[in-house]
Amino acid sequence: MTHMHVAGSIHADATSPAPQWLKRPEDVNALTRQLWSEHAGRDAQGRLAIAGLTAQEIVEQAGSPVYVIDEADFRGRARRWKEAFGDWQVFYAGKSFLCTTVARWIAEEGLGLDVCTGGELAVALRGGMDPARIGLHGNNKSEDELRAALQAGVGRIIVDSSHEIGLLERLCAELGTVARVMIRVTTGVEAHTHEYIATAHEDQKFGFSINGGAALVALVRSAHSPHLNLVGVHSHIGSQIFDTNGFEVAARRTLKLIAQFKEATGTELSELDLGGGFGISYIKEDTPATPEDLAAGLRAIVEHECRGFGLSVPLMSVEPGRAICGPAGTAIYTVGTVKTVELGGGQSRRYISVDGGMSDNIRPALYAAEYSAAMANRTSAAEPVLSRVVGKHCEGGDILVRDEFLPGDLTAGDLIAVPASGAYSRSMASNYNHVPRPPVVAVSDGRLTTLLRRETLDDLLALDAGA
Ligand SMILES: *Cc1c(COP(=O)(O)O)cnc(C)c1O
Repeated sequence: MTHMHVAGSIHADATSPAPQWLKRPEDVNALTRQLWSEHAGRDAQGRLAIAGLTAQEIVEQAGSPVYVIDEADFRGRARRWKEAFGDWQVFYAGKSFLCTTVARWIAEEGLGLDVCTGGELAVALRGGMDPARIGLHGNNKSEDELRAALQAGVGRIIVDSSHEIGLLERLCAELGTVARVMIRVTTGVEAHTHEYIATAHEDQKFGFSINGGAALVALVRSAHSPHLNLVGVHSHIGSQIFDTNGFEVAARRTLKLIAQFKEATGTELSELDLGGGFGISYIKEDTPATPEDLAAGLRAIVEHECRGFGLSVPLMSVEPGRAICGPAGTAIYTVGTVKTVELGGGQSRRYISVDGGMSDNIRPALYAAEYSAAMANRTSAAEPVLSRVVGKHCEGGDILVRDEFLPGDLTAGDLIAVPASGAYSRSMASNYNHVPRPPVVAVSDGRLTTLLRRETLDDLLALDAGA
């Protein structure tokens, strides 16, 4: 998931600690369109507004910090992915961000939904998602999770290990049911931002290796099981991917496997899922492909490979998560301490501390992920100053935005907005330092709806058995 810029540690010039890719903006108030949700922009007074509410109004209604989802943007993106992929199925990867309302939006927009734990399954079902449109993932599904999925009647279980095949067979026999399964395979493609590395050795925890032959063995075993209805093969190559090269190799290797399976058993598998991982813009330099271009590219690849292997094109599916919820979300924080630290050699860095941090967005600490930011409550005529936005936690690595130019007069009480914050932030949030997790609100046509309320100290203390 790492998106590290190669030039990240190289400085533009000797007097600036800014990374080379980050240019001093001509107008520090300008918002780069591609980073922000569709209905976010500065109003006539220069204040950031999202779907008719200013950042200040959102904070007055929901407190700070707060995660804001532009509902029409989220729904529009979901719809666009579904329409772009036509007769391919699109499953929203719930792990990127899921609550019951989001499950309902996904259901209403006609997508499927992927979950990877019993917790995500429970939220999806509570949100009214049709179980037949739910897929269950996970490399270590528990017996309880598999039983819950079978009892709910989920549309597909993506099987990750031979242990799981045995477990599923026993549970299906017990419940008198047959599980619809796909086999998760590793293709040896590890996709990064702009390149892929085809590793000979698939050194990671997910799925069955194609290279070692484990994938074919799992397919044959599942096909022969009276308890399993084997429908196809599943591959997921990584995240924050910007081109189709990695998918091309993955499609070739999975279809070759399907051809080998056909040779071994005489049966052609009917479904292939190429996973998710489609990249979004966190900073200006990120230039993701459109869903339409991705769909056309992937379709051409799959059709070409199927012709080559003499297979008919299976029922295809993809699983975008970040690409749907990421750009729709904005985090809003309130500025507290502002400090300028001398770095020696005439260089300095301004640290801006805000009222959240690594407990609500662990991605910068976990993957050195980059973000951008803007002052949200006003514009400024002051000079842009290279800044680092940091949280309130007791860790040096508690960084939210490593490098960004922000107005020189930014001060305590100002609001900072971080765009592209809808994916893998609140969903990965923790209670580190006993900081209550922030709420998630949806905004639409000037109205705010709470999706997840703010955690309170009472919520935290309620778990403490000694209290
Ligand atoms: C995480 C994951 C996805 C979604 O990845 P994004 O980067 O959010 O698109 C899709 N499929 C599987 C199996 C995953 O593990």
